[in-house]
Amino acid sequence: MPATIISGKEISARIRERIKGEIEELVRMKGENPDFALPGLAVILVGDDPGSSIYVRNKRKICEEVGIRSFGYILEKDTSEADLMGLIDQLNEDKNVHGILCQLPLPPHLDEFSVISAISPEKDVDGFHPINKGLLSMGKNCLIPCTPLGCVEMLKLSGIGIAGKHCVIIGRSNIVGKPLAALMLNENATVTITHSKTRDLQEICRQADILVAAIGKQGFVTGEYVKDGAVVIDVGINRDTENKVRGDVLFEEVSEIAGAITPVPGGVGLMTTTILMQNTLQAYRNIMSKEAVL
Ligand code: NDP
Repeated sequence: MPATIISGKEISARIRERIKGEIEELVRMKGENPDFALPGLAVILVGDDPGSSIYVRNKRKICEEVGIRSFGYILEKDTSEADLMGLIDQLNEDKNVHGILCQLPLPPHLDEFSVISAISPEKDVDGFHPINKGLLSMGKNCLIPCTPLGCVEMLKLSGIGIAGKHCVIIGRSNIVGKPLAALMLNENATVTITHSKTRDLQEICRQADILVAAIGKQGFVTGEYVKDGAVVIDVGINRDTENKVRGDVLFEEVSEIAGAITPVPGGVGLMTTTILMQNTLQAYRNIMSKEAVL
């Protein structure tokens, strides 16, 4: 029997509707009060990488859709680290900004770790700051990276249980594989994380109840990697020879074996930007409750 499709489109739409409703309520609370801030997200783009520019435009569009104020900063590609840090300091202090995102990758003369570490952990809606990473691995409340959280929300909102399941993740990057492993562990899965040096990869993957592919290689996960009835989450975003977006999973083959599967496009990718909105609202509520406004 072909796998159930876990639709990122449908699940994202549900989450966005909820966020929109919450923001409409905040707008009502604000009324005519000029001092009542509404959730705001600042997005910094350094340089003119076409892929990054599309992502940034898309984020602004979704902000508009849900009612989050967005502030865009497009800097020259040779911007100095001091100037970028100056902008981040200013945004850290800005009462109208509750989330700050610096689009990665940065040009090579800028040190990503220093830049990410300069963002206030309270406003780090990407969840990349070392403090948020540490809190996540300790199972404490924090801002969680958007793609891994999107994967978990997709499972939960599709009614797929995580506790006790064996989750195998292919990929150990700092933005997907590692935080997802921490998150799945916090959800009481038994987690195996694999990478390019892993031996017997197919055999390990065939043990997975939940298999996550975050590799960056089109069609890498074939039917050989998948146990009958397993849940398969495809994080990969790759361009084929016709410039179409393809996942890391060979969908046609794997969907005949898996119990449930996320498509590409229309899967995890849509969840990532939706969770960014959710994280911005969470950052806003955290900051406001500290200031005793909400
Ligand atoms: P990275 O290149 O940072 O990491 C890829 C990982 O895959 C590495 O850990 C690497 O292992 C592992 N890997 C590569 N080849 C093999 C192999 N032959 N066998 C086993 N493991 C292998 O990529 P990202 O984590 O940033 O992204 C992964 C994919 O997800 C990409 O397609 C990216 O575009 C996509 N992506 C999608 C997002 C979304 O919103 N849907 C968001 C972010 C990423 P090693 O560490 O040993 O090198």
